[in-house]
Amino acid sequence: MAAYPKLKLLINGTWRKGSGGASEPVLNPATEEPLGEVPHASTADLDEALAAAGHGFAVWRTTPPHERSRIICAVAALVRERLEEIATALTLENGKPIAEARKEVAGSADILEFAGEQAKRVFGDIVPGRVPGVRHLVQKEPVGITLSFTPWNFPINTFARKIGPALAAGCSVVAKAAEETPASASAMAKALDDAGLPAGVLNLVFGVPAEVSSHLMASPAVRKISFTGSVPVGKHLAGLAAQRMQRTTMELGGHSPVVVFDDVDVAKAADLLVAGKYRNAGQVCISPTRFYVQERIYEDFVGAFVERAQKIVVGDGMDPASQMGPLANDRRLDAMTGFVDDAASRGATIAAGGERIGNRGYFFAPTVIKDAPDDCRVMTEEPFGPLAPMTRFSGIDEVAGRANALEVGLAAYAVTRSLDRATRISDALDAGMVGINTVAVASPEAPFSGVKESGYGIEGGPDSLEPFLATKAVAQTSL
Ligand code: NAD
Repeated sequence: MAAYPKLKLLINGTWRKGSGGASEPVLNPATEEPLGEVPHASTADLDEALAAAGHGFAVWRTTPPHERSRIICAVAALVRERLEEIATALTLENGKPIAEARKEVAGSADILEFAGEQAKRVFGDIVPGRVPGVRHLVQKEPVGITLSFTPWNFPINTFARKIGPALAAGCSVVAKAAEETPASASAMAKALDDAGLPAGVLNLVFGVPAEVSSHLMASPAVRKISFTGSVPVGKHLAGLAAQRMQRTTMELGGHSPVVVFDDVDVAKAADLLVAGKYRNAGQVCISPTRFYVQERIYEDFVGAFVERAQKIVVGDGMDPASQMGPLANDRRLDAMTGFVDDAASRGATIAAGGERIGNRGYFFAPTVIKDAPDDCRVMTEEPFGPLAPMTRFSGIDEVAGRANALEVGLAAYAVTRSLDRATRISDALDAGMVGINTVAVASPEAPFSGVKESGYGIEGGPDSLEPFLATKAVAQTSL
Protein backbone atom coordinates (compact mmCIF):
# COMPACT_ATOMS: atom_id res chain seq x y z
CA MET A 1 0.00 0.00 0.00
CA ALA A 2 1.22 3.54 -0.80
CA ALA A 3 2.64 5.45 2.17
CA TYR A 4 0.31 7.58 4.27
CA PRO A 5 2.08 10.09 6.56
CA LYS A 6 1.97 10.14 10.36
CA LEU A 7 -0.38 12.88 11.55
CA LYS A 8 0.42 15.57 14.11
CA LEU A 9 -0.72 18.97 15.31
CA LEU A 10 1.38 22.06 14.49
CA ILE A 11 1.49 24.41 17.45
CA ASN A 12 4.01 27.23 17.76
CA GLY A 13 6.31 25.71 15.17
CA THR A 14 6.36 22.25 16.77
CA TRP A 15 4.76 19.12 15.32
CA ARG A 16 3.34 17.02 18.12
CA LYS A 17 0.52 14.82 19.44
CA GLY A 18 -2.41 16.25 21.37
CA SER A 19 -1.65 16.64 25.07
CA GLY A 20 -4.87 14.84 26.05
CA GLY A 21 -3.94 11.71 24.07
CA ALA A 22 -7.25 11.59 22.16
CA SER A 23 -7.33 10.71 18.47
CA GLU A 24 -9.58 9.25 15.77
CA PRO A 25 -8.88 6.88 12.88
CA VAL A 26 -8.64 8.10 9.27
CA LEU A 27 -10.23 5.62 6.87
CA ASN A 28 -9.52 4.92 3.23
CA PRO A 29 -13.00 5.28 1.66
CA ALA A 30 -12.10 2.81 -1.11
CA THR A 31 -11.34 -0.01 1.32
CA GLU A 32 -12.76 1.16 4.69
CA GLU A 33 -9.36 0.27 6.18
CA PRO A 34 -7.58 2.60 8.62
CA LEU A 35 -4.78 4.74 7.21
CA GLY A 36 -3.66 6.30 10.47
CA GLU A 37 -4.78 8.21 13.55
CA VAL A 38 -5.39 11.94 13.61
CA PRO A 39 -4.60 13.45 17.03
CA HIS A 40 -7.16 15.67 18.75
CA ALA A 41 -6.10 18.92 20.36
CA SER A 42 -7.05 19.31 24.02
CA THR A 43 -8.39 22.67 25.22
CA ALA A 44 -4.89 23.34 26.61
CA ASP A 45 -3.46 22.71 23.11
CA LEU A 46 -6.04 25.09 21.60
CA ASP A 47 -5.12 27.79 24.13
CA GLU A 48 -1.47 27.25 23.28
CA ALA A 49 -2.26 27.58 19.56
CA LEU A 50 -4.09 30.87 20.24
CA ALA A 51 -1.18 32.20 22.30
CA ALA A 52 1.25 31.15 19.55
CA ALA A 53 -0.93 32.87 16.94
CA GLY A 54 -0.77 36.02 19.09
CA HIS A 55 3.06 36.00 19.08
CA GLY A 56 3.03 34.94 15.43
CA PHE A 57 0.83 37.88 14.50
CA ALA A 58 3.19 40.34 16.20
CA VAL A 59 6.06 38.99 14.08
CA TRP A 60 4.20 38.50 10.82
CA ARG A 61 2.34 41.80 10.64
CA THR A 62 5.69 43.63 10.78
CA THR A 63 7.36 41.32 8.26
CA PRO A 64 7.68 43.33 5.03
CA PRO A 65 5.13 42.31 2.38
CA HIS A 66 7.93 41.37 -0.02
CA GLU A 67 9.27 38.87 2.49
CA ARG A 68 5.80 37.47 3.16
CA SER A 69 5.36 37.14 -0.58
CA ARG A 70 8.72 35.39 -0.98
CA ILE A 71 7.89 32.77 1.65
CA ILE A 72 4.37 32.07 0.35
CA CYS A 73 5.59 31.74 -3.25
CA ALA A 74 8.41 29.44 -2.08
CA VAL A 75 5.75 27.21 -0.51
CA ALA A 76 3.93 26.99 -3.84
CA ALA A 77 7.18 25.70 -5.39
CA LEU A 78 7.66 23.16 -2.57
CA VAL A 79 4.09 21.89 -2.98
CA ARG A 80 4.74 21.41 -6.70
CA GLU A 81 7.96 19.48 -5.92
CA ARG A 82 6.03 17.24 -3.50
CA LEU A 83 2.99 16.91 -5.76
CA GLU A 84 3.08 13.14 -6.20
CA GLU A 85 3.47 12.43 -2.49
CA ILE A 86 0.68 14.86 -1.51
CA ALA A 87 -1.68 13.69 -4.28
CA THR A 88 -1.22 10.09 -3.13
CA ALA A 89 -2.15 10.97 0.46
CA LEU A 90 -5.16 12.93 -0.84
CA THR A 91 -6.46 10.02 -2.91
CA LEU A 92 -5.96 7.59 -0.04
CA GLU A 93 -7.88 9.73 2.44
CA ASN A 94 -10.56 11.24 0.19
CA GLY A 95 -10.98 8.61 -2.53
CA LYS A 96 -10.83 10.85 -5.61
CA PRO A 97 -8.98 9.48 -8.67
CA ILE A 98 -5.25 10.17 -8.54
CA ALA A 99 -5.45 12.33 -11.70
CA GLU A 100 -8.00 14.59 -9.93
CA ALA A 101 -5.84 14.65 -6.80
CA ARG A 102 -2.82 15.79 -8.84
CA LYS A 103 -4.91 18.60 -10.34
CA GLU A 104 -6.13 19.66 -6.93
CA VAL A 105 -2.61 19.81 -5.51
CA ALA A 106 -1.27 21.71 -8.53
CA GLY A 107 -4.23 24.10 -8.34
CA SER A 108 -3.57 24.67 -4.63
CA ALA A 109 0.02 25.67 -5.38
CA ASP A 110 -1.34 28.14 -7.97
CA ILE A 111 -3.79 29.59 -5.41
CA LEU A 112 -0.99 30.08 -2.85
CA GLU A 113 1.24 31.67 -5.44
CA PHE A 114 -1.46 34.09 -6.58
CA ALA A 115 -2.16 35.09 -2.97
CA GLY A 116 1.57 35.41 -2.28
CA GLU A 117 1.98 37.75 -5.24
CA GLN A 118 -0.94 39.85 -4.03
CA ALA A 119 0.87 40.41 -0.70
CA LYS A 120 2.95 43.00 -2.57
CA ARG A 121 -0.12 44.88 -3.78
CA VAL A 122 -1.89 45.90 -0.58
CA PHE A 123 -1.96 49.60 -1.36
CA GLY A 124 -3.59 52.48 0.45
CA ASP A 125 -4.83 55.89 -0.63
CA ILE A 126 -4.13 59.50 0.16
CA VAL A 127 -7.32 61.56 0.25
CA PRO A 128 -7.00 65.37 0.10
CA GLY A 129 -8.65 67.02 3.11
CA ARG A 130 -11.43 69.64 2.98
CA VAL A 131 -9.31 71.99 5.05
CA PRO A 132 -6.00 73.25 3.58
CA GLY A 133 -3.02 71.33 4.98
CA VAL A 134 -5.05 68.27 5.99
CA ARG A 135 -4.70 64.92 4.32
CA HIS A 136 -6.22 61.53 5.07
CA LEU A 137 -4.01 58.49 4.78
CA VAL A 138 -6.00 55.33 4.15
CA GLN A 139 -4.04 52.26 5.25
CA LYS A 140 -4.86 48.57 5.04
CA GLU A 141 -3.78 46.54 8.06
CA PRO A 142 -4.11 42.80 8.79
CA VAL A 143 -7.16 42.17 10.99
CA GLY A 144 -5.39 39.83 13.44
CA ILE A 145 -5.73 36.17 14.35
CA THR A 146 -7.83 34.26 11.83
CA LEU A 147 -9.54 30.88 12.22
CA SER A 148 -9.79 28.64 9.20
CA PHE A 149 -12.22 25.68 9.05
CA THR A 150 -11.92 23.56 5.92
CA PRO A 151 -13.82 20.49 4.66
CA TRP A 152 -12.99 17.02 3.33
CA ASN A 153 -14.10 17.32 -0.30
CA PHE A 154 -11.21 19.55 -1.48
CA PRO A 155 -9.01 19.32 1.59
CA ILE A 156 -5.91 21.07 0.19
CA ASN A 157 -7.60 23.44 -2.26
CA THR A 158 -9.91 24.93 0.39
CA PHE A 159 -6.99 25.10 2.84
CA ALA A 160 -4.94 27.10 0.28
CA ARG A 161 -7.90 29.38 -0.48
CA LYS A 162 -8.10 30.39 3.18
CA ILE A 163 -4.57 30.44 4.51
CA GLY A 164 -2.99 31.89 1.32
CA PRO A 165 -4.80 35.26 1.44
CA ALA A 166 -4.78 35.36 5.27
CA LEU A 167 -1.00 34.96 5.43
CA ALA A 168 -0.46 37.27 2.45
CA ALA A 169 -2.45 39.98 4.27
CA GLY A 170 -0.23 39.59 7.36
CA CYS A 171 -2.65 37.67 9.61
CA SER A 172 -1.71 34.67 11.73
CA VAL A 173 -3.89 31.58 11.54
CA VAL A 174 -5.23 28.76 13.66
CA ALA A 175 -6.52 26.24 11.12
CA LYS A 176 -8.74 23.24 11.80
CA ALA A 177 -8.67 21.08 8.70
CA ALA A 178 -11.11 18.20 8.19
CA GLU A 179 -10.39 15.24 10.46
CA GLU A 180 -11.46 12.81 7.71
CA THR A 181 -8.79 14.10 5.29
CA PRO A 182 -6.00 15.56 7.42
CA ALA A 183 -2.83 14.61 5.51
CA SER A 184 -3.12 16.86 2.47
CA ALA A 185 -3.72 20.04 4.50
CA SER A 186 -0.92 18.94 6.85
CA ALA A 187 1.41 18.63 3.84
CA MET A 188 0.75 22.26 2.92
CA ALA A 189 1.34 23.33 6.53
CA LYS A 190 4.59 21.33 6.51
CA ALA A 191 5.70 23.10 3.32
CA LEU A 192 5.03 26.48 4.98
CA ASP A 193 7.05 25.40 8.00
CA ASP A 194 9.90 24.17 5.77
CA ALA A 195 9.89 27.40 3.75
CA GLY A 196 10.63 29.44 6.86
CA LEU A 197 7.25 30.71 8.05
CA PRO A 198 7.97 32.00 11.59
CA ALA A 199 6.75 29.82 14.47
CA GLY A 200 3.16 30.50 15.54
CA VAL A 201 2.08 32.23 12.30
CA LEU A 202 0.25 29.08 11.19
CA ASN A 203 -1.03 26.55 13.70
CA LEU A 204 -2.87 23.41 12.63
CA VAL A 205 -5.23 21.53 14.94
CA PHE A 206 -7.79 18.74 14.74
CA GLY A 207 -10.53 17.61 17.10
CA VAL A 208 -14.29 17.43 17.50
CA PRO A 209 -15.32 20.24 15.08
CA ALA A 210 -18.02 21.89 17.22
CA GLU A 211 -15.85 21.77 20.35
CA VAL A 212 -12.77 23.17 18.60
CA SER A 213 -14.64 26.00 16.87
CA SER A 214 -16.62 27.07 19.94
CA HIS A 215 -13.49 27.07 22.15
CA LEU A 216 -11.39 29.03 19.66
CA MET A 217 -14.16 31.49 18.76
CA ALA A 218 -14.71 32.35 22.41
CA SER A 219 -11.30 34.04 22.45
CA PRO A 220 -11.40 37.84 22.15
CA ALA A 221 -8.03 37.65 20.35
CA VAL A 222 -9.69 36.07 17.32
CA ARG A 223 -10.78 38.67 14.76
CA LYS A 224 -11.80 36.68 11.69
CA ILE A 225 -13.40 33.31 10.85
CA SER A 226 -13.35 31.67 7.44
CA PHE A 227 -15.46 28.54 6.98
CA THR A 228 -16.25 26.23 4.06
CA GLY A 229 -18.96 23.64 4.61
CA SER A 230 -22.68 23.18 4.94
CA VAL A 231 -25.31 25.94 5.30
CA PRO A 232 -26.51 24.82 8.79
CA VAL A 233 -22.96 24.80 10.22
CA GLY A 234 -22.26 28.15 8.52
CA LYS A 235 -25.32 29.70 10.19
CA HIS A 236 -24.27 28.30 13.55
CA LEU A 237 -20.75 29.71 13.23
CA ALA A 238 -22.03 33.09 11.99
CA GLY A 239 -24.16 33.21 15.16
CA LEU A 240 -21.14 32.50 17.37
CA ALA A 241 -19.06 35.08 15.49
CA ALA A 242 -21.74 37.71 16.09
CA GLN A 243 -21.17 37.36 19.86
CA ARG A 244 -17.70 38.87 19.46
CA MET A 245 -18.27 40.83 16.26
CA GLN A 246 -15.72 38.64 14.49
CA ARG A 247 -15.60 39.09 10.74
CA THR A 248 -16.65 36.04 8.74
CA THR A 249 -16.29 34.55 5.30
CA MET A 250 -18.83 31.81 4.62
CA GLU A 251 -18.39 29.54 1.62
CA LEU A 252 -21.42 27.30 2.03
CA GLY A 253 -23.32 24.84 -0.07
CA GLY A 254 -25.07 25.31 -3.38
CA HIS A 255 -27.40 23.40 -5.70
CA SER A 256 -26.30 24.48 -9.15
CA PRO A 257 -28.93 24.61 -11.87
CA VAL A 258 -27.85 23.71 -15.41
CA VAL A 259 -29.96 25.08 -18.25
CA VAL A 260 -29.54 23.04 -21.43
CA PHE A 261 -30.99 24.98 -24.39
CA ASP A 262 -32.22 23.19 -27.48
CA ASP A 263 -29.71 24.81 -29.86
CA VAL A 264 -26.71 22.83 -28.52
CA ASP A 265 -24.80 19.95 -30.03
CA VAL A 266 -26.23 17.29 -27.70
CA ALA A 267 -23.13 15.07 -27.74
CA LYS A 268 -20.79 17.95 -26.89
CA ALA A 269 -23.09 19.22 -24.14
CA ALA A 270 -23.35 15.72 -22.64
CA ASP A 271 -19.54 15.27 -22.74
CA LEU A 272 -19.01 18.56 -20.91
CA LEU A 273 -21.71 18.07 -18.28
CA VAL A 274 -21.05 14.39 -17.52
CA ALA A 275 -17.39 15.24 -16.83
CA GLY A 276 -18.47 18.14 -14.60
CA LYS A 277 -21.18 16.19 -12.78
CA TYR A 278 -19.14 13.16 -11.72
CA ARG A 279 -15.88 14.97 -10.85
CA ASN A 280 -15.00 14.07 -7.24
CA ALA A 281 -18.11 11.82 -7.34
CA GLY A 282 -20.26 14.96 -7.32
CA GLN A 283 -18.96 16.05 -3.89
CA VAL A 284 -18.30 19.57 -5.10
CA CYS A 285 -20.08 22.69 -3.87
CA ILE A 286 -20.24 24.01 -7.46
CA SER A 287 -21.19 20.64 -8.98
CA PRO A 288 -23.92 20.80 -11.66
CA THR A 289 -26.87 19.38 -9.74
CA ARG A 290 -30.27 20.26 -11.26
CA PHE A 291 -30.56 19.72 -15.01
CA TYR A 292 -33.28 21.70 -16.82
CA VAL A 293 -33.36 20.51 -20.42
CA GLN A 294 -35.38 22.23 -23.13
CA GLU A 295 -38.27 20.05 -24.34
CA ARG A 296 -37.23 19.53 -27.98
CA ILE A 297 -33.92 17.81 -27.05
CA TYR A 298 -34.93 16.36 -23.66
CA GLU A 299 -35.06 12.67 -24.69
CA ASP A 300 -31.87 12.91 -26.79
CA PHE A 301 -29.92 14.72 -24.08
CA VAL A 302 -31.01 12.37 -21.30
CA GLY A 303 -30.14 9.38 -23.53
CA ALA A 304 -26.66 10.78 -24.33
CA PHE A 305 -26.05 11.58 -20.65
CA VAL A 306 -27.13 8.11 -19.49
CA GLU A 307 -24.94 6.41 -22.10
CA ARG A 308 -21.87 8.33 -20.90
CA ALA A 309 -22.68 7.95 -17.19
CA GLN A 310 -22.92 4.17 -17.58
CA LYS A 311 -19.47 4.01 -19.16
CA ILE A 312 -17.70 5.74 -16.27
CA VAL A 313 -15.15 3.42 -14.69
CA VAL A 314 -15.75 3.48 -10.92
CA GLY A 315 -12.98 2.15 -8.70
CA ASP A 316 -10.20 2.79 -6.21
CA GLY A 317 -8.74 6.22 -6.95
CA MET A 318 -5.20 4.79 -6.79
CA ASP A 319 -5.96 2.71 -9.90
CA PRO A 320 -5.14 5.02 -12.84
CA ALA A 321 -8.00 3.42 -14.82
CA SER A 322 -10.62 4.71 -12.32
CA GLN A 323 -12.59 7.73 -13.53
CA MET A 324 -14.68 8.07 -10.38
CA GLY A 325 -13.74 7.00 -6.87
CA PRO A 326 -15.84 6.16 -3.82
CA LEU A 327 -17.79 8.71 -1.81
CA ALA A 328 -15.66 10.20 0.94
CA ASN A 329 -17.59 8.71 3.86
CA ASP A 330 -20.50 6.45 4.71
CA ARG A 331 -22.77 9.45 5.51
CA ARG A 332 -22.80 10.28 1.79
CA LEU A 333 -23.75 6.68 0.87
CA ASP A 334 -26.79 6.79 3.15
CA ALA A 335 -27.71 10.25 1.80
CA MET A 336 -27.59 9.02 -1.84
CA THR A 337 -29.90 6.12 -1.12
CA GLY A 338 -32.35 8.49 0.58
CA PHE A 339 -32.40 10.91 -2.39
CA VAL A 340 -32.88 8.11 -4.94
CA ASP A 341 -35.68 6.38 -2.98
CA ASP A 342 -37.50 9.68 -2.47
CA ALA A 343 -37.33 10.60 -6.20
CA ALA A 344 -38.49 7.12 -7.26
CA SER A 345 -41.40 7.24 -4.82
CA ARG A 346 -42.52 10.53 -6.41
CA GLY A 347 -42.63 9.14 -9.94
CA ALA A 348 -39.09 9.81 -11.25
CA THR A 349 -37.30 7.12 -13.29
CA ILE A 350 -33.84 5.95 -12.26
CA ALA A 351 -32.33 5.89 -15.77
CA ALA A 352 -28.79 4.98 -14.67
CA GLY A 353 -27.18 3.76 -11.44
CA GLY A 354 -29.16 4.42 -8.29
CA GLU A 355 -27.33 1.93 -6.09
CA ARG A 356 -24.23 1.27 -4.07
CA ILE A 357 -21.59 -0.75 -5.92
CA GLY A 358 -20.33 -3.74 -3.92
CA ASN A 359 -20.22 -3.85 -0.14
CA ARG A 360 -16.65 -2.76 0.59
CA GLY A 361 -15.69 0.88 0.06
CA TYR A 362 -18.22 3.70 -0.30
CA PHE A 363 -18.83 3.29 -4.05
CA PHE A 364 -22.09 4.56 -5.54
CA ALA A 365 -22.95 4.25 -9.23
CA PRO A 366 -23.11 7.38 -11.43
CA THR A 367 -26.84 8.03 -11.34
CA VAL A 368 -29.31 9.76 -13.65
CA ILE A 369 -32.80 10.53 -12.34
CA LYS A 370 -35.19 11.26 -15.21
CA ASP A 371 -38.34 13.37 -14.82
CA ALA A 372 -37.43 14.47 -11.30
CA PRO A 373 -40.30 16.57 -9.89
CA ASP A 374 -39.23 20.07 -8.80
CA ASP A 375 -40.24 19.36 -5.21
CA CYS A 376 -38.45 16.04 -4.71
CA ARG A 377 -35.58 16.10 -2.22
CA VAL A 378 -32.77 15.76 -4.75
CA MET A 379 -34.07 18.89 -6.54
CA THR A 380 -34.32 20.93 -3.36
CA GLU A 381 -31.47 19.70 -1.11
CA GLU A 382 -27.82 19.73 -2.20
CA PRO A 383 -27.11 16.10 -3.22
CA PHE A 384 -23.30 16.28 -2.78
CA GLY A 385 -22.87 13.02 -4.65
CA PRO A 386 -23.05 11.42 -8.12
CA LEU A 387 -26.74 12.13 -8.81
CA ALA A 388 -27.98 13.98 -11.91
CA PRO A 389 -31.71 14.75 -11.66
CA MET A 390 -33.27 15.92 -14.94
CA THR A 391 -36.45 17.73 -15.85
CA ARG A 392 -37.82 19.59 -18.91
CA PHE A 393 -38.49 23.25 -19.51
CA SER A 394 -40.02 25.27 -22.33
CA GLY A 395 -39.10 28.98 -22.02
CA ILE A 396 -36.28 31.08 -20.57
CA ASP A 397 -38.36 33.06 -18.04
CA GLU A 398 -39.96 29.88 -16.73
CA VAL A 399 -36.62 28.09 -16.29
CA ALA A 400 -34.97 31.09 -14.62
CA GLY A 401 -37.82 31.20 -12.09
CA ARG A 402 -37.45 27.50 -11.31
CA ALA A 403 -33.65 27.71 -11.18
CA ASN A 404 -33.83 30.64 -8.72
CA ALA A 405 -36.50 29.08 -6.51
CA LEU A 406 -34.06 27.71 -3.87
CA GLU A 407 -32.50 29.64 -0.99
CA VAL A 408 -28.95 28.94 -2.23
CA GLY A 409 -27.03 30.57 -5.08
CA LEU A 410 -23.43 29.48 -5.50
CA ALA A 411 -22.83 28.38 -9.11
CA ALA A 412 -25.20 28.11 -12.10
CA TYR A 413 -24.61 26.91 -15.65
CA ALA A 414 -26.11 27.13 -19.11
CA VAL A 415 -25.19 25.60 -22.44
CA THR A 416 -26.24 27.31 -25.65
CA ARG A 417 -24.87 28.51 -28.98
CA SER A 418 -27.00 31.66 -28.86
CA LEU A 419 -25.34 34.83 -27.59
CA ASP A 420 -28.75 36.28 -26.83
CA ARG A 421 -29.77 33.30 -24.67
CA ALA A 422 -26.35 33.24 -22.97
CA THR A 423 -26.68 36.89 -21.99
CA ARG A 424 -30.30 36.65 -20.86
CA ILE A 425 -29.82 33.53 -18.75
CA SER A 426 -26.57 34.67 -17.10
CA ASP A 427 -28.25 37.96 -16.17
CA ALA A 428 -31.32 36.12 -14.82
CA LEU A 429 -29.61 33.48 -12.65
CA ASP A 430 -29.17 34.28 -8.93
CA ALA A 431 -25.68 32.91 -8.37
CA GLY A 432 -22.21 34.05 -7.35
CA MET A 433 -20.68 32.31 -10.36
CA VAL A 434 -22.16 31.49 -13.78
CA GLY A 435 -20.59 29.14 -16.34
CA ILE A 436 -21.74 29.46 -19.96
CA ASN A 437 -20.65 26.44 -22.00
CA THR A 438 -18.12 25.62 -19.28
CA VAL A 439 -18.15 24.15 -15.80
CA ALA A 440 -14.72 25.57 -14.92
CA VAL A 441 -15.80 28.62 -12.94
CA ALA A 442 -13.15 28.42 -10.20
CA SER A 443 -9.63 29.70 -10.84
CA PRO A 444 -7.04 31.38 -8.61
CA GLU A 445 -7.47 34.68 -10.46
CA ALA A 446 -11.28 34.82 -10.40
CA PRO A 447 -13.55 35.58 -7.43
CA PHE A 448 -15.30 32.61 -5.84
CA SER A 449 -18.40 33.50 -3.83
CA GLY A 450 -22.09 32.86 -3.35
CA VAL A 451 -25.33 34.77 -2.86
CA LYS A 452 -28.35 34.07 -0.63
CA GLU A 453 -27.71 31.21 1.84
CA SER A 454 -24.61 30.12 -0.07
CA GLY A 455 -22.74 32.65 2.03
CA TYR A 456 -20.72 35.82 1.67
CA GLY A 457 -17.16 37.05 1.34
CA ILE A 458 -14.91 36.53 -1.64
CA GLU A 459 -12.22 33.89 -1.97
CA GLY A 460 -9.86 34.00 -4.95
CA GLY A 461 -9.07 36.79 -7.35
CA PRO A 462 -7.51 40.20 -6.72
CA ASP A 463 -9.93 41.03 -3.86
CA SER A 464 -9.19 37.86 -1.88
CA LEU A 465 -6.98 39.63 0.70
CA GLU A 466 -9.65 42.23 1.47
CA PRO A 467 -11.57 40.08 4.02
CA PHE A 468 -8.35 39.82 6.06
CA LEU A 469 -7.66 43.56 6.10
CA ALA A 470 -8.98 46.39 8.24
CA THR A 471 -9.07 49.92 6.83
CA LYS A 472 -7.51 52.62 8.98
CA ALA A 473 -7.97 56.30 8.07
CA VAL A 474 -5.33 58.64 9.50
CA ALA A 475 -6.17 62.35 9.32
CA GLN A 476 -2.94 64.34 9.40
CA THR A 477 -1.96 67.99 9.42
CA SER A 478 0.76 70.18 10.96
CA LEU A 479 0.45 72.31 14.07
P1 NAD B 1 -21.28 18.75 8.32
O1 NAD B 1 -22.20 19.83 7.94
O2 NAD B 1 -21.32 18.26 9.72
O3 NAD B 1 -19.75 19.16 8.07
C1 NAD B 1 -19.32 19.93 6.97
C2 NAD B 1 -17.91 20.42 7.31
O4 NAD B 1 -17.98 21.34 8.41
C3 NAD B 1 -16.96 19.33 7.79
O5 NAD B 1 -15.67 19.59 7.25
C4 NAD B 1 -16.93 19.46 9.31
O6 NAD B 1 -15.67 19.08 9.86
C5 NAD B 1 -17.16 20.93 9.50
N1 NAD B 1 -17.88 21.26 10.72
C6 NAD B 1 -19.03 20.70 11.17
N2 NAD B 1 -19.44 21.30 12.29
C7 NAD B 1 -18.53 22.26 12.58
C8 NAD B 1 -18.41 23.23 13.60
N3 NAD B 1 -19.33 23.37 14.57
N4 NAD B 1 -17.33 24.05 13.59
C9 NAD B 1 -16.41 23.98 12.61
N5 NAD B 1 -16.48 23.10 11.60
C10 NAD B 1 -17.53 22.25 11.57
O7 NAD B 1 -21.59 17.52 7.42
P2 NAD B 1 -20.83 16.54 6.45
O8 NAD B 1 -21.52 15.25 6.56
O9 NAD B 1 -19.36 16.54 6.65
O10 NAD B 1 -21.16 17.19 5.05
C11 NAD B 1 -22.54 17.28 4.72
C12 NAD B 1 -22.85 18.42 3.88
O11 NAD B 1 -21.95 19.51 4.04
C13 NAD B 1 -22.76 18.08 2.42
O12 NAD B 1 -23.93 17.49 2.01
C14 NAD B 1 -22.56 19.41 1.78
O13 NAD B 1 -23.80 20.00 1.55
C15 NAD B 1 -21.85 20.22 2.82
N6 NAD B 1 -20.43 20.43 2.49
C16 NAD B 1 -20.14 21.50 1.74
C17 NAD B 1 -18.84 21.74 1.38
C18 NAD B 1 -18.48 22.90 0.51
O14 NAD B 1 -17.51 22.84 -0.20
N7 NAD B 1 -19.23 24.01 0.58
C19 NAD B 1 -17.83 20.87 1.79
C20 NAD B 1 -18.17 19.77 2.61
C21 NAD B 1 -19.48 19.56 2.96
